[in-house]
Amino acid sequence: TSLATTLRLDSRFVTDLPELAIPWQAEEAPEPTVVAVNEQLAVDLGLDPEWLRSSAGVRALLGQDLPAGSQPVAQAYTGHQFGMLAPRLGDGRALLLGELTSPDGTLHDLHLKGSGRTPFSRGGDGRAALGPMLREHLVSESLHALGVPTTRSLAVIGTGRTILREDGYHPGAVLVRVAASHLRVGSFEYARTLESPGLVRRLAEHAVHRHAPETDSAESPARGLLATTVTTQAWLMAQWLSVGFVHGVMNTDNMTISGETIDYGPCAFVDGLDPAAVFSSIDTGGRYAYGRQPAIAQWNLTRFAETLLPLLHDDPNAAVEAAQDLLATFPRHFGQAWAAAMRAKLGLNQEVGDDVAGPLADELLALMAAGRTDFTSFFRRLGQHTEHGDDGPLTGAVADAAALTDWLERWRALGPDPELMGNSNPAYIPRNHLAEEALTAAEAGDLEPFEQLLGAVRDPFREREGLARFGQPAPEGHGPHVTYC
Ligand code: AMP
Ligand code: MG
Ligand code: MG
Repeated sequence: TSLATTLRLDSRFVTDLPELAIPWQAEEAPEPTVVAVNEQLAVDLGLDPEWLRSSAGVRALLGQDLPAGSQPVAQAYTGHQFGMLAPRLGDGRALLLGELTSPDGTLHDLHLKGSGRTPFSRGGDGRAALGPMLREHLVSESLHALGVPTTRSLAVIGTGRTILREDGYHPGAVLVRVAASHLRVGSFEYARTLESPGLVRRLAEHAVHRHAPETDSAESPARGLLATTVTTQAWLMAQWLSVGFVHGVMNTDNMTISGETIDYGPCAFVDGLDPAAVFSSIDTGGRYAYGRQPAIAQWNLTRFAETLLPLLHDDPNAAVEAAQDLLATFPRHFGQAWAAAMRAKLGLNQEVGDDVAGPLADELLALMAAGRTDFTSFFRRLGQHTEHGDDGPLTGAVADAAALTDWLERWRALGPDPELMGNSNPAYIPRNHLAEEALTAAEAGDLEPFEQLLGAVRDPFREREGLARFGQPAPEGHGPHVTYC
């Protein structure tokens, strides 16, 4: 089949839910330049990457020559930000261009970030700097390669503008994002605040159609939607934890109904394992710390369930009971997903039950946390030591070498599989110091380090000779990393 040299979009969201959408136009980019195109994603979507790089392709991607069928909108949503309700957030620097159908028949949102001010911008300039947009491209590609559900970046396009941030001037850019949808917990919270009869129901039906079509419509669709979202979010949290990922701003507007990771702001991978690790300059209370993410997901899902109460049962008490029953399944789903992920990381086969694999993993993680052991390289190295031998490289990386030696003996007795471990524990992730270095160079006009790091994290399980530096812990003295959003 040939690849498309044109964009055809649907506008189902705005048609189904006009109350949640403000028709809007992207601002003109004075001098657009293609900085990154995700060739593989383009092909998967049926789009010709060469065309995307052409001036016609860029104008379509930026919403400047409107693609056929596109009715760009700023989406409205509410958000609990650090636990506090902000009733009206919405896309302050983003637009939904429309929905794209890929060759396999799946719908994907095509969305712009950094496309100019909207009615939701408040004090913001509506724009995005090149560094953070390349960061989203890099980190989302990494998560995708690690098998973690995520929104994707189709392209990053420099606008030719210079924009001001607190640390000075930066080149401006637009990120073209692809997502299963941009429905957030905050979308439901917003729909509820409008108190418009039937609106939450319509939104739930739209969401069921996109994310839980297998839900039995004879039963309550809202119940099926909540059950599906609880499961997919529990699964997502286990995946994040198993690769050491910290999202950074798990506000309800930054949590999808689809179960995809969204909104790469002050996110990072932990270097040394620390359940309290926080990377956001504004998260002074540690609300969104590494180890708190499953609990926060549950908190956000509770806000989601509250919006669905009238749809869960006609009787308010029965509705609350139904919501509580569904929310109460989160720990079980999370536990199963976590045990499965840890079993693979430890190279253990299915016969090793959760009751053995779970505590064994917890014990190792406690040992690692006590010494702030480098998470990614330790697991990688562990997979190279499934047999008895010189354990120095392992015991030297934890605080209590004797306890690890004892642990290794019990673990080896279970017959860990080095191949499974090699395919479960990445050699390459976008470590904070590497990403910082690559993005600083990119903003100064040198894309080479960015492309090299991107290439490494896109193929994270296959070690390559020239990339040894990317697999090593941050150099001594690389202080606690903080990202500003
Ligand atoms: P976030 O913390 O990235 O989820 O963003 C929270 C809210 O701030 C959303 O409503 C964004 O659209 C808005 N926002 C973030 N950056 C800007 C900006 N530069 N201009 C306007 N709105 C912004
Ligand atoms: Mg956001
Ligand atoms: Mg953001």
